[in-house]
Amino acid sequence: CGIVGVLGNNQVAPLLVESLKRLEYRGYDSAGIATVNDGALDRRRAVGKLVNLQDLLVHDPLAGKSGIGHTRWATHGEPNVKNAHPHATARVAVVHNGIVENFRELREDLAAKGIGYETDTDTETVALLTQSFLDDGMTPVDAAEAVIARLEGAYALCFLFQGEDDLMIAARKGSPLAIGHGEGEMFVGSDAIALAPMTDKITYLEEGDWAVLTRTSVEIRDAQGALANREIRTIQIDT
Ligand code: GLU
Repeated sequence: CGIVGVLGNNQVAPLLVESLKRLEYRGYDSAGIATVNDGALDRRRAVGKLVNLQDLLVHDPLAGKSGIGHTRWATHGEPNVKNAHPHATARVAVVHNGIVENFRELREDLAAKGIGYETDTDTETVALLTQSFLDDGMTPVDAAEAVIARLEGAYALCFLFQGEDDLMIAARKGSPLAIGHGEGEMFVGSDAIALAPMTDKITYLEEGDWAVLTRTSVEIRDAQGALANREIRTIQIDT
């Protein structure tokens, strides 16, 4: 399973699929991508090998220069299109590796606000909770921070927002996550191998870190909410 995210200057769908291919070695049962294009979120998902997602994209392309991608190794809910990531609402799309241990409790909280769930996954609660906080009037960054604070379990997460072509939020607890620094572009990946074709400048998030990314900036905070200074390393990986 794996995660990628790109705030790029070119059409991002092919890059996302290429990066996901570099994470195939981790195993997966389904895959998907989401982009924000002229402010609008959209996604494509397919069960099985990445070639199925690629075929889908040939017939039903996904435009946009900002996007997130996921290969899923199902823990909650069978591998089908409905349960494949990204999970999305009108205003947010989320990819997640790991397990949201308290998803039943989150479902109950959402139900109390009149929000129902549609998939069999733990991850969907992350998207639904984010949407509910956005609907409460929070900014995307505040909403993501509030959601992350509610999560128990293990996660590598990446959020993409409607109306925000230059914003991605990434978080790590129990699952590795790397940030890649480009020239006026920014990347997220489960490991540096996924990002190797795009950049060799890598920052590894530490346990509990979460990061607010634009094409030209990275702000990392630790689990206590304090600004964290994380090194940018130049790494060598054969592409
Ligand atoms: N627990 C999530 C799911 O089953 C994510 C699984 C993964 O790490 O790919 O959808």
